[in-house]
Amino acid sequence: MARILTAQAPFPDNKSKRRSLQGPLIAFIVFVTVALIGIVALNSWNARSTKLQETGIVTGNMARALAQHTEGAIESVDNILVGLVDTLEQNSWNTAHLAHLNHFMRQHVSERPLLHGLFVYDEKGRWIVNSQEVLLKNMNNADRDYFIFHRNHADRGPYIGPPIRSRSTGEWIITVSRRLEHPDHSFAGVVLATINMGYFRSFYDSFDIGKAGAIVMTSTSGTMLVRRPFDEAIIGKDVSKGPVFQHYLSHGPSGTVMLTAKVDNVERLYSYRSLDHYPILMAVALSKKEVLAGWRNETLRFTLASTVAIALLALLGWHLTRQIGIRERAQSDLRTTRDDLEKINSELAALALQDGLTGLANRRRFDAALDQEYARAMRNGTALALIMLDVDLFKEYNDTYGHPQGDECLRNISRVLKAASTRPGDLVARYGGEEFAILLPGTDIAGATAVAERARLAIQAMNLAHSESQNGIVSISAGVTAIIPVRNGHSAPDLLRRADQALYKAKEHGRNRVCSADQAEPEAW
Ligand code: GH3
Ligand code: MG
Ligand code: MG
Repeated sequence: MARILTAQAPFPDNKSKRRSLQGPLIAFIVFVTVALIGIVALNSWNARSTKLQETGIVTGNMARALAQHTEGAIESVDNILVGLVDTLEQNSWNTAHLAHLNHFMRQHVSERPLLHGLFVYDEKGRWIVNSQEVLLKNMNNADRDYFIFHRNHADRGPYIGPPIRSRSTGEWIITVSRRLEHPDHSFAGVVLATINMGYFRSFYDSFDIGKAGAIVMTSTSGTMLVRRPFDEAIIGKDVSKGPVFQHYLSHGPSGTVMLTAKVDNVERLYSYRSLDHYPILMAVALSKKEVLAGWRNETLRFTLASTVAIALLALLGWHLTRQIGIRERAQSDLRTTRDDLEKINSELAALALQDGLTGLANRRRFDAALDQEYARAMRNGTALALIMLDVDLFKEYNDTYGHPQGDECLRNISRVLKAASTRPGDLVARYGGEEFAILLPGTDIAGATAVAERARLAIQAMNLAHSESQNGIVSISAGVTAIIPVRNGHSAPDLLRRADQALYKAKEHGRNRVCSADQAEPEAW
């Protein structure tokens, strides 16, 4: 007998749960990677913006400090000029006065390191008095820029001229001058203070502005006065067309802006501020490259670390995806095997309940069905009928026609029996040898007898030759019984026994006939 195999499903059979996890996992890893790159990029960009913003504050403060320092320095010099203008306009230029002024001027110059010299010229540009020990005769400065300016302008304010090399010392100087007037306000000459450019240069050199930083002093008309790094070639040049100056012209007295300088093509963050009382503009600039060097290193390190993290993540993801793939393939193989097993099992189960020769239900199936239907009939209070059939003189048939022919005869009988019971619930079984059983749920004795009779006639109608039988053809005898089972009454084996008895009676009465059990012992049933 075939063993019935059962395969327990080791995993859910649900279609939706069978969808591969590889896709979502890859999507998740891609999402995390993109998110990580996004976060790193955003973070780095924010750090860069913050750095530039902070640097802008630093350069802005530096510009303010430098402007104040310059303002103070020039004011201290200009105050002397104001005093000189006053005394020269109020007093006559006699020898005693001029000797007194010479003393006064020399004292000032010796006390102030930024002050290079003090000079007075008359309306023709001749040297009248100055801070030198000996006044050189026959010297004339009428060709100097400041002299021409004051001669042509009635403005009494200070004038800052373009840097020049001193005629007396050869050093680079910045000039601050004021106009002298006669009582009738006509031009009377110029008082001039010269400032050591070196004073500003050494002050600017004390600032930490990196290698490519710059500190610039220009006039508000765009003349380059002092610059760190120092380059003689651009001192005194017009830089009013440069981007920093243009920005100053369009945006007002102070500002901070990222620009590329025309002078050296370096991109810098500039902060500029004009002086409150003198026509001077101070600017300080830090190289963008130098400002962002730290940030760049940091970003590089961060990017490297992130790349390693992403690579590890990708590796892990790849490994996981592969593992999932292997697992899913194994599961799919298992599923296929299980499906095959289930198919084989159901085939085996069907075979286990089927008679091999005739294809009818076998004894095992019949026994199960009898118990089941008996219980159901009892539950529902309905009738259950049973017909037992036996081929007449079949031993003789075998003996006459041979066993294979006997088998063929049994197959033919089976086919006819199957056709005789027409209801869906009816069960035709080979009970054993040349004996058959028909179970008829919901059928009373009359109905069952009719089915048995129909079967007997149909077999007779086949007209299968059987030389040893009384009619010369194959025939069957049948015993019929029916019952409405009640609890604590008869049982399924009783039904079987009574059908058998009825069959026995049919045989006794000459075969090829149907007998019912009621006819046999009606009162006992
Ligand atoms: P009765 O009319 O009284 O039933 O006579 P009988 O010869 O049919 O009675 P018996 O029960 O003595 O003989 C049954 C015979 O059925 C015995 C056996 O050779 C034959 N037989 C049983 N099973 C098969 C089968 O599967 N194939 C074939 N060919 N013959 C079978
Ligand atoms: Mg028999
Ligand atoms: Mg028989």
